[in-house]
Amino acid sequence: PTTLTDELGIALSNLADSATGVLTPTLRLGVTGLSRAGKTIFITALVHNLLTQGRLPGFAPLADGRFIGARLAEYPDATIPRFAYEQHLATLTGTPPAWPEGTRRISQLRLVLKFQSAKWWAGMTGPATLNLDIVDYPGEWLLDLPLLGLSFAEWSAEALDRARLPGHATEAADFLRTLEGVDVSGDASDVDAERLASTFTTYLRRSREHGALSTLPPGRFLLPGDLEGSPALTFAPLPRPAGATRNGSLYAMLEGRFEAYKAQVVRPFFRDHFARLDRQVVLVDTLRALNAGPEAVNDLETALTAVLACFRQGEANPLLRPFSRRIDRILFAATKADHVHHTSHDRLQAILNRLVANASKRARFAGAATRSLAIAGIRATSEGTIREHGETLPTLVGTPVEGQTLDGAIYDGRTEIALFPGDLPERPDSLFEGGEPVSLNFLRFTPPQKLDRNAAGDPVLPHIRLDQAMDFLIGDWMA
Ligand code: GDP
Repeated sequence: PTTLTDELGIALSNLADSATGVLTPTLRLGVTGLSRAGKTIFITALVHNLLTQGRLPGFAPLADGRFIGARLAEYPDATIPRFAYEQHLATLTGTPPAWPEGTRRISQLRLVLKFQSAKWWAGMTGPATLNLDIVDYPGEWLLDLPLLGLSFAEWSAEALDRARLPGHATEAADFLRTLEGVDVSGDASDVDAERLASTFTTYLRRSREHGALSTLPPGRFLLPGDLEGSPALTFAPLPRPAGATRNGSLYAMLEGRFEAYKAQVVRPFFRDHFARLDRQVVLVDTLRALNAGPEAVNDLETALTAVLACFRQGEANPLLRPFSRRIDRILFAATKADHVHHTSHDRLQAILNRLVANASKRARFAGAATRSLAIAGIRATSEGTIREHGETLPTLVGTPVEGQTLDGAIYDGRTEIALFPGDLPERPDSLFEGGEPVSLNFLRFTPPQKLDRNAAGDPVLPHIRLDQAMDFLIGDWMA
C-alpha cells in the first residue's frame, strides 16, 4: 500500500535523477562552539570518515551496507571561504603529526553522499544522493544576537557597567583611561575612534585569555573573520552625553557605527547563514572547564546560556522572529573525551547534559530534538592499566605535547606515557552544589603518532562516538 508521501518520494527521486541533480536534497549542518572547542577537528574527522568509510559501526547507513560513497564537491556559493579540509588533514597526518589551526571565521564545505535508500521504492529508483553542506562558524558570533535588540545607549550602559566591575579592573584599565581622555560631545575623530576601539578590543580579548570562557559581545571583536581592521569594528561603548546628541560628534559617529555593525554584520549572518541551517552541533570543551574549577564551570554555563539563546524558538526570542527558523535537531557534544577513560564517558555526557539543561531551563527548543554525547573527533590516546599500591588503575596512553609539565616531568613531544587521568563524579549535580572539585590529570596530547591504513591505503582516524554523532545528525536523511 502506498501513501501519498511515498508516491511523492518516488516522483521526487525520479526527478532528481533526471534533472542532473538540481533537486538533490541538501542538508545544511552547522558546526559551532566557542574558540578551541574542537570545531576544526570535528569537521575534519567527519569529512575524512565519510570519504574513506571509516570505522563507524554506529552510523546506520554504513553499518547496514547501504552507504555507497562520498566525494567533495564545489560549494555553490563562491563568496564564502572553503573549509580547508585537505590542509587540516595533512597537518594531522604529517610527520610529526600536529593539530591544525582552529576556526577563525565562517567557512563551508559540500559533500555529495551516495547511498541506497532503505525505503521500499528504492529498488526502483536506484541509488539516492544527498548534498551535505557543512557550515563552520565561531560560537562567539552567536553572542551578538542580543545586540539586535539594544540601542547604542543601552549597550554602552551595560558594557561600561561591566568594565567598571572590580573583577575587570586590570583588563579594562587602559580602555577606561582612554575613555576619560576623550570628549564624547566633541567633534568626531577617527583617531579617537580607533584608540577607543583598540583598547576596548584588547580588554575583551584579555578577559578571555585570563580564563573567562564566557565572553562579552561584540563577537567579531574577538574573532573578526574578514573584518579585521575594518571601520565596521571601529567603535566602543560611550557614556551618553548630557542633552541631545549633536550631529558630527564622536558619540554620533560611534552610534552610527554600532548601528551599521548590527545592520551589516550581525543581521546578515543570522539571515544568510544561521537561519538556513537544518541541523546544528554545538561543541563544548567541558573537560577544560571541569579541570579549571567551579568558577570556570559557571562561566561556561553563562556562555552556553548566551549561545543557546539563539536556538530558542518562537516567543522565547523575539529577536529571531524575522528569520525563519527550522533547525530540527541539535546535538550537544562534549569534545576531547579521549582525555578521560571510557568508564567516564557516560559521566561526561551526563555532566554536559546537566550544563545545557540548566543553560536552557526556560528555553524551548520547539520542534527540535536534542541530544548530548561525549565524543572525540580524533582520538589521541589509547587505554591501558597500571598497578599501583596493589590497585589496578585505568590509564590513558598517549604522547604529551612538547613543553608541558606534570608532577615535575617536562615532556619532549615524542615520548609516550601512561597517565591515570582521574575520574569524573558519578552525580553531575555534585559539581553544581559546590561539592568536591574534580581533579583530573590533564595533559594535551599530540594527534595519534601511528595510524592504521585501510585497504585503499588511506589512514584510519580513530575517534570516540563520532559515528553516533553522525547517525543523529545525518542518518535519518539517508534512511
Ligand atoms: P576550534 O577553535 O573550535 O576550531 O578548535 P580546534 O578544532 O582547533 O581544537 C582546538 C584544540 O583542541 C586542538 O588543537 C586540539 O589540541 C584539541 N582537540 C580538539 N579535538 C580533539 C580531540 O578529539 N581529541 C584531542 N585529544 N584533542 C582535541
